[in-house]
Amino acid sequence: MEALREDTDLVIVGGGITGLASAYLAAKAGKKVAVLEAGERFGGLLNTFEIGGNKLEFYYHHFFMHDAELNWLIKDLGIADQLFFKKTSMGVYTEGKIYDFNSPKDLLKFKPISWVDKFKFGLSTIFLGKVAQWEKYEGVSAMEWLRKWAGKSTAKSLWEPLLKVKFGPFANQVPLAWMVGRMRQRMGSRKGGDERLGYLTGSLDTLLQALLKALADMNVQLINNARVDEIITEGNKIQSLKVQGAHISAKDYLMTLPSNYLYPMLAKGFPALSQQISRVQYFGAMCVILEMTKPLSEIYWLNIASEGFPFGGVIEHTNFIPASEYAGSHIAYLSRYFAHEEAIATMTEEEIKKDMVSKLKVIYPAFSEADLKNIHLFKTMTAATVCDMNFSNKIPNCKTEIENMYLASMSHVYPDERSTNNSIRVAAEACRVMGIETDYVPANQSLAGKIGF
Ligand SMILES: Cc1cc2nc3c(=O)[nH]c(=O)nc-3n(C[C@H](O)[C@H](O)[C@H](O)COP(=O)(O)OP(=O)(O)OC[C@H]3O[C@@H](n4cnc5c(N)ncnc54)[C@H](O)[C@@H]3O)c2cc1C
Repeated sequence: MEALREDTDLVIVGGGITGLASAYLAAKAGKKVAVLEAGERFGGLLNTFEIGGNKLEFYYHHFFMHDAELNWLIKDLGIADQLFFKKTSMGVYTEGKIYDFNSPKDLLKFKPISWVDKFKFGLSTIFLGKVAQWEKYEGVSAMEWLRKWAGKSTAKSLWEPLLKVKFGPFANQVPLAWMVGRMRQRMGSRKGGDERLGYLTGSLDTLLQALLKALADMNVQLINNARVDEIITEGNKIQSLKVQGAHISAKDYLMTLPSNYLYPMLAKGFPALSQQISRVQYFGAMCVILEMTKPLSEIYWLNIASEGFPFGGVIEHTNFIPASEYAGSHIAYLSRYFAHEEAIATMTEEEIKKDMVSKLKVIYPAFSEADLKNIHLFKTMTAATVCDMNFSNKIPNCKTEIENMYLASMSHVYPDERSTNNSIRVAAEACRVMGIETDYVPANQSLAGKIGF
C-alpha cells in the first residue's frame, strides 16, 4: 500500500460520496487530505459498470430538482452541461393490474382506493409534503398515522406495501418524520404535477471521475485497497490506523464508512461510543439488472404493491434514458431491500436471478425470457440505515470523545431519505465541525445534516 504523506492534516476513511465530498471541501480550504478506501474503486454506492458501450449504476440513481448541494458540486466541478432533467412516469402494480400514478387524474382512476380515501390521500399527502414539521412526528408510527389519516384503503393498497418493501421487517417502526422528509423530497421535484428527475450524461461516473480528478489536482492522496482494520488510540486521541499491517497517522480523522463497520473497532477502548454508534443498524439492497431486446412497459418507476414478489420496484431505466444510449438494449432494475437476517441475503446469485425473473411474467405477460440479452446482480449490505422511531436519539455526534476523530455517514441523513445530495450536505456539516468554512455550499430544503452537528 502507498505510504501516507508525512504532513497530512486529515485522513478520511471511506471513499464513497460522503468521504470524497468531505475531501473536496477540506482540500479547497487548503488542508492536506488523504482518503482511504477499502475497495478497489472509489465511489461506494455510486459505482457503475459498462453496458452497451455506456456506463450504468449498480443501483439505479437519479437526482431531484431541489438537490441544491449536488447542483452546486456539479457546477463547481465544471460539469453542469452534463446534467439534465427529464419528465418521468410512475405506476403502481396492485390487484393484478398496472395503474399509472402520475397525476390527480390517475388517482381518480385508481380503483383500489375508495372515493373518500382518495380525498384523504390528497389531503394527507399535501400535509406531509408541505405543512408537517418532522420534529413532531418522530415518535409516531407512519403506518398507524397513514391508516388513520390517509384512509384504510390507501394504507392497505399503497402505503403499507411500499413501506414493507422499503423497510422489510422494520416497516412498522418507521416514524412519520421519515415520511415527511421523503414527501418533501418527492414533492419538491414536481413541477406542474410532473415529476422531473435529473441524470448525468455518461451516468454518475461523470460526477465521480470529475470529483476524483479535482481531488488529484488539489493533491489529495487517494489510496484504494486500504481497508482500515483497527483504530489505535492513546488517551483520548487516535494514534494511528492499522491498514493492511501498516500504521497510518495524521492530525485528524473523519470516519465516513458505514457505522456498522466502525463500532467494533472502538469496542475495546471506547465502549460507550462504540455502543452509541452500534445503535444505528443498516439493511441491504440488491438490484437485478435486465438487459433486454424489448421494453417491459412505458413506465419508468413501478412500485409493486402486491404480496408475493421478490422485488419491490421495477425501474425501467431506458424509459428515462433512451435505449439508444446503450446500443439499443432496454434496461430494467428489479430492486429489493432486505434485512440482514432474511433468507434472500444468503441466496446464491443464480437463485436470486431465477426467482426474480420467474415472477416478471405475472406483471408483464408479454415478457419472455427470450427477450433477455444479459442479466446482472449487485448487492450491498449497507444500502440504508434503519431509521426507526425516535431515530434522532441514535445518531452519534460528529464530534466524538476521541479528540481527533469525527463522524459523518448515512446515519446523519435523517429525516430525509439518504441520497447523493444529502451526503454532500453531511460532508459540509462535518467540515464545519472540524473548523473548515463551508458556508458557501448552498442548502435548499434538505433536512439532512442537522442532528449530530
Ligand atoms: C438501491 C439504491 C438506490 C439509490 N438511489 C439513489 C438515488 O436515486 N439518488 C440518490 O441521490 N441516491 C441514491 N442512493 C443513495 C446513495 O447512493 C447514498 O446515499 C450515497 O452513495 C452514500 O454515500 P456514502 O459515502 O455515505 O456511503 P458509501 O457509498 O457506502 O461509501 C462508504 C465507503 O466506505 C468504504 N469502507 C467501508 N469499510 C471501510 C474500511 N474499514 N476502511 C476503508 N473504507 C471502508 C466502502 O468501501 C465504501 O466505498 C441509492 C442507494 C441505493 C443502495
